[in-house]
Amino acid sequence: MAKKIELTPEQKRFEDIISHAKAYGFVFQSSELYDGLQAVYDYGQNGAQLKNNLKQVWWRAMTQMNEDIVGIDSAIFMHPEIWKASGHVDNFNDPMIDNKDSKKRYRVDHLIEKKIDALKTENKLEEAEKLNATMDAFLAKEDFEGLYNLIVTEKIACEVSNTCNWTEVRQFNLMFSTEMGAVAGEDNKIYLRPETAQGIFVNFLNVQKTSGRKIPFGIAQIGKAFRNEIVARQFIFRMREFEQMEMQYFVRPSTEMDAYNSWKTKRMNFLKALGINPDKLRFHDHTKLAHYANAAVDIEYEFPFGFKELEGIHSRTDFDLSQHQKHSRNKIQYFDEQVEDKDKQRYIPYVVETSIGADRLFLAILCESYTEAKGIDAKGEEKTRIFLKLHPAIAPIKVAVFPLLNKDGLPEKAREVFEMLRYDYETLYENRGAIGKNYTRMDMIGTPYCVTIDHQTLEDNTVTLRERDTTDQIRVLISDLPKIVEERVSLKNILLMVNGKW
Ligand code: ATP
Repeated sequence: MAKKIELTPEQKRFEDIISHAKAYGFVFQSSELYDGLQAVYDYGQNGAQLKNNLKQVWWRAMTQMNEDIVGIDSAIFMHPEIWKASGHVDNFNDPMIDNKDSKKRYRVDHLIEKKIDALKTENKLEEAEKLNATMDAFLAKEDFEGLYNLIVTEKIACEVSNTCNWTEVRQFNLMFSTEMGAVAGEDNKIYLRPETAQGIFVNFLNVQKTSGRKIPFGIAQIGKAFRNEIVARQFIFRMREFEQMEMQYFVRPSTEMDAYNSWKTKRMNFLKALGINPDKLRFHDHTKLAHYANAAVDIEYEFPFGFKELEGIHSRTDFDLSQHQKHSRNKIQYFDEQVEDKDKQRYIPYVVETSIGADRLFLAILCESYTEAKGIDAKGEEKTRIFLKLHPAIAPIKVAVFPLLNKDGLPEKAREVFEMLRYDYETLYENRGAIGKNYTRMDMIGTPYCVTIDHQTLEDNTVTLRERDTTDQIRVLISDLPKIVEERVSLKNILLMVNGKW
């Protein structure tokens, strides 16, 4: 009989979060009707709204709260030469290995890192350190045989088959390609962009000239990116089609570290302002820098499966713009009248970028807000209440309005309240079901406020206002509702915190 695998509390929590996301219309497996498409997901009615809210707050925090940042929206398809210039055609590869028994494919660095983590857990810190250093050296030299031998000598086994029966290590390009136009063939080969950043680099001059911006200034963008990820697991953490929110900040060479440090702080503030517990966020400096970068750091979040990258902040020198200048044979230079030395007035700007996945942020927010609270119900029995403790400003629905009964003029009065609120907030009107059940359903999707209209409302224009986190119910005047709701659900609360003005 197959042995039942015991889940750790964290694994169990993650499984509960995934089930919750599906059961309450946040995230569905793509093409589920046809047994699904691996590592591709659809957002349901509440997920789409939550994701839109996250994108909106990022966009506003970038473009509205920074006078020196503008936003663009570039196309997914780009000239194929762009991906040669950026290095993606030649370098966007990960060394992979397949287990011959389970047929499961792994990213080599991930496989070895798992072993390193296991050694650390067993407190074999020196061994872990040594293995990490050896792996890094092989990766840097692209020594595939060395990596293969390391996996074999360390007896790293496949988690499915439990065997060490491995293929050799191979390189795998992560870009999806297709053909443009009617004729198929290499000449018409075009890529689905693996990152949004290149759309910003190739528009640098267009934006700089038409906006009249002086350096330093930034360009922000939100858009889809595609990567043929091999090890696609952990739900929406690693997807093949995902969305990025990136900002490239263009600076004068030699001033990049100031910008880098300031963006590190701003981006951390942003995540905290969304309500993420600061203890679950940390910086992780890159020790292996890409050849063109002079500093790089990840902001990691403690997902139920451990601390993992949520956002990257990179100082990329003038690498990308120089590459596009070379490959396009068009000058990409900025004239800086502020520089006194005439020989140094024309230069290719340096770039500091911040890059976060909208879906990965969504997952972090979901994990952070999923709350199981033990309490005593009306009958005196112990009960677990599940709710999403979302920052009210990003909740899919801000206020739900219910008539206590579906008669006696209560629905009409409730619709009046609904009409009053819906122009300013995502509001839901529901005239079916028991009030208690409706409250529970709203808890599950993180609605901060529920308003119930009863017979007393018809007499004195007061309603019951129920708050999600405390479940407190208070009686308030209908005319006071907009002010009360506004105080908590306004996006301004987040923007003020990002700017340190809270
Ligand atoms: P990883 O090491 O996790 O593969 P990366 O270093 O390749 O990530 P970047 O290229 O720096 O990631 O991309 C910036 C951000 O885009 C990441 O911090 C992450 O939030 C998001 N991202 C990258 N790849 C994916 C993916 N496959 N699915 C979802 N989000 C992604």
